[in-house]
Amino acid sequence: MNAIEFSGIGKDFGSFTALKEVSFSVEQGDFFALLGPNGAGKTTLISILGGLTKASRGQTRVMGLDVEADYRAARRAVGIVPQELVFDPFFKVREALLFQSGYFGIKHNDDWIDEILHNLGLTDKANTNMRALSGGMKRRVMVAQALVHKPPVIVLDEPTAGVDVELRQTLWAFIKSLNEKGHTIVLTTHYLEEAETLCNRIAMLKKGELIALEDKATMMQRGAARTVRIKIAPAQLPASLRPLLISQHEQQFELKLADCNGLEAILAALRSEQIALKDLEITQPDLEEIFVQMMHA
Ligand code: ADP
Ligand code: MG
Repeated sequence: MNAIEFSGIGKDFGSFTALKEVSFSVEQGDFFALLGPNGAGKTTLISILGGLTKASRGQTRVMGLDVEADYRAARRAVGIVPQELVFDPFFKVREALLFQSGYFGIKHNDDWIDEILHNLGLTDKANTNMRALSGGMKRRVMVAQALVHKPPVIVLDEPTAGVDVELRQTLWAFIKSLNEKGHTIVLTTHYLEEAETLCNRIAMLKKGELIALEDKATMMQRGAARTVRIKIAPAQLPASLRPLLISQHEQQFELKLADCNGLEAILAALRSEQIALKDLEITQPDLEEIFVQMMHA
């Protein structure tokens, strides 16, 4: 059984189609990134998953449960950290978490709540009113609320947008430990280096369509435009290499490299003009560059 299955999901807002025939699944235990520029449809898809928005077409299952036909059970199987801060200003932090537990019919949840508070650095805010918390602290409570019912599937919609480095580190350490215990994690983020370090599978949405879904390792190899930086003894760059030139700084040249074999041609060109190579460095494109390439393709 997959953790999540989207089959032919479409979503219209009036005459505007926000999602077109989106189909993919997320395996149990994955740490999955859902990437795409603003307006791609990520939040809409997550709202459908959480039963907050109804799809216009298609079917969505969480842990085998249909989000419409089995609404309550499906809702229990997933914890969603929303993109927007939504909270009741009159609750204290612990009260809010106990209330949320009650919503899921969980009675004695204090031990787990203590553990969540501890792991999110919220222990000393347990009795603080929500309205008195800073934005970063409210964000932590949003994460805590999504976890009160220990959902097997955890979805975080841009949880680190505008959040300080400390929270990002705390949050990822905790989420990683939950993933290691078997929870499936789905993450949307603007910080592509987060997706690159944390996730094992990556989906890309563009204007409501899925344009890629691959293991991270496969996706990282898409970055056709590797570059090589060479430093040479004072001399001109061989003419045959000029078409590859990206930038030059004194005797340091950055050249485009289609693949590793391109390196041989570069070395051969230098050798044939007896130009000494002082230094060489190959740079791999990061996920950010691959993302930009794919979105402009
Ligand atoms: P993302 O989360 O990837 O930035 P969203 O899912 O929020 O994208 O939005 C996808 C598209 O759907 C956007 O063009 C957005 O303006 C539109 N949209 C989202 N919600 C609504 C709504 N309630 N009414 C009309 N249009 C909406
Ligand atoms: Mg969004």
